[in-house]
Amino acid sequence: MPKNDNINNIIDHKLFTEDDIHAMCVKLGRQLTTDYAGKKPLVVGALKGAIFFLTDLVREMDVKEEIDFLDVSSYGDSLESTGKVKLISDLVTDVQGRDVLIVEDIVDTGLTLKYMKDLLKKRGARSVKCCVLLNKESRRRVDVEIEYYGSTVHNEFVVGYGLDFMGYYRNLRYIGVLKAEFIKLANNK
Ligand code: 5GP
Ligand code: MG
Ligand code: MG
Repeated sequence: MPKNDNINNIIDHKLFTEDDIHAMCVKLGRQLTTDYAGKKPLVVGALKGAIFFLTDLVREMDVKEEIDFLDVSSYGDSLESTGKVKLISDLVTDVQGRDVLIVEDIVDTGLTLKYMKDLLKKRGARSVKCCVLLNKESRRRVDVEIEYYGSTVHNEFVVGYGLDFMGYYRNLRYIGVLKAEFIKLANNK
């Protein structure tokens, strides 16, 4: 899938424009500013998808925060979570006693987020909450609390603003729905 393919051949339709995304970041940032007032949270970005959201979100938060990153992935590169989650790259920061806010691009089955939350709680974080841009509520397979999210989405595969398809299209400024033919292509490969 060459990266420079005409994007109109890949995206079925736009779901969230740059302005929509900005509005979600502003709203969430305001709420987090209130809720973390007086605290020094550790904002943990889930690589790689959350980096665009994290950089926009923290700049809407008037909070004294630190940033670190964690890379946790399902085995394999299919479009569906396999259920087995592994730690690819760990934090540098000690989370003991910290108020941790995990920032994630999208929650689907919830397996990845649950793994991260459980891991950081086990390491002695004082609180572990999450802020997710997109919430695919209908797909949830495990019980995991989503304290903050930008919007719910239907069961469609979305790309852009950090969200990839086989590693590509993260740098789109908007979020769009991938054409169905590409999903079939990826699942049959
Ligand atoms: P979960 O463990 O909740 O099933 O999966 C979460 C991860 O699957 C997300 O962090 C994301 O990497 C990937 N994912 C789930 N749905 C989508 C989607 O619609 N588009 C993209 N690009 N990735 C998705
Ligand atoms: Mg992710
Ligand atoms: Mg991915």
